[in-house]
Amino acid sequence: AVARLVQHEKLAGIGRLAAGVAHEINNPLGVILGYVRLLQRRAEGTLAEDLRVVEEEAVRCQDIVEGLLDLARPGRGPKEPVALRDACEEVVSRLREATRLGTVTVDVHGEGTAWAQAPRLRQVLLNLVKNAAEAAGEGGRVEVRIAVDADGSARVAVSDSGPGVTPEARARLFEPFFTTKPSGTGLGLAVSQAIAEAHGGRIDVDTGALGGARFTLSLPSPSRVQEAAA
Ligand code: ADP
Ligand code: MG
Repeated sequence: AVARLVQHEKLAGIGRLAAGVAHEINNPLGVILGYVRLLQRRAEGTLAEDLRVVEEEAVRCQDIVEGLLDLARPGRGPKEPVALRDACEEVVSRLREATRLGTVTVDVHGEGTAWAQAPRLRQVLLNLVKNAAEAAGEGGRVEVRIAVDADGSARVAVSDSGPGVTPEARARLFEPFFTTKPSGTGLGLAVSQAIAEAHGGRIDVDTGALGGARFTLSLPSPSRVQEAAA
């Protein structure tokens, strides 16, 4: 419990700091990206390749700034009923369009409604599906299962055919900046957990039916959320 509290304080501190500087960094970063993309159109050969690296790294900076901003947003705004099936399918097609899924097959099953801030919820789903696809790798599989309990609480389980979570990674998954990927930000799960908790929910990890990891987002039923707020 103490560790969770420290983690929470750490997140809140990072969030406040980020909120202060993010705008300052975002604007020049946007200018850098604009110019790099302009130069890319005129460049050829190895220069074009070098500029692509510059662009990729600038995009990565944008991802980090965005992740930090997400940690700063408390997520206590107005909630509404969100159709989970639609939200999941939207997230999958968004990742597909951004070519973040490669040749990974993603299936969505089940239905349910959650009481949530729609954009924040979509962001959690995006982070989980993106991680699953990255773990599954080319030709891999991802399965998203939506279910609603008798008491109305909703669950979205994202399983993949990847190698699963190593015991070392397991302990640090939700730590801000923990990543095992060469160009990861390590913010996806930290942000997702902060959002889940702001909704009175949580994220659990175990092994799924596809052999790899299974991340389960649980959100309380609308009636319980309303009781808690009353
Ligand atoms: P990032 O994706 O930028 O690395 P995340 O916070 O999203 O940051 O994830 C942190 C780490 O958790 C990943 O680097 C990876 O080691 C581990 N992880 C997340 N999702 C999975 C998964 N589906 N299978 C195996 N490991 C995972
Ligand atoms: Mg991630």
